[in-house]
Amino acid sequence: MSSRRAKEPWYKDGLSFECTKCGACCTGAPGYVWVTPEEIAALAEHRGETLDEFSMQFVRKVGRRYSLIERPGGDCIFWERGVGCTVYPARPVQCRTWPFWPENVETPEDWRHVTEICPGSGKGRHYSADEIITSIGMVRT
Ligand code: SF4
Repeated sequence: MSSRRAKEPWYKDGLSFECTKCGACCTGAPGYVWVTPEEIAALAEHRGETLDEFSMQFVRKVGRRYSLIERPGGDCIFWERGVGCTVYPARPVQCRTWPFWPENVETPEDWRHVTEICPGSGKGRHYSADEIITSIGMVRT
């Protein structure tokens, strides 16, 4: 067996995903939507607000990092029922890379769990292993 083959991920044939816009990944239990200064600036511009206006309303500092604030209960502050993501064109990398996060594709069992909570996972557009690896590499943990 070649060393290249030995390193192939279990999803070497790729995985499918197509968002149904159900909102399950944007709502529910509290968590963090990590944002960089560049992403904060892009979100502010998208909303037509200054950096200060946006940051004071929607950003919280967590240790040395920044996260978007949430609604009570944990829903994303920019998720609106019946509308969906209201900052979609400027959404941060964390949102763009779902569901291909390291912890979601580490094992087939991890991916099976994702398909249980995200109805778009395992269906629709096919992503190659290279695309999935690129997505994983973009995620800041
Ligand atoms: S849980 Fe999956 S299908 Fe639902 S909004 Fe999130 S990515 Fe889309």
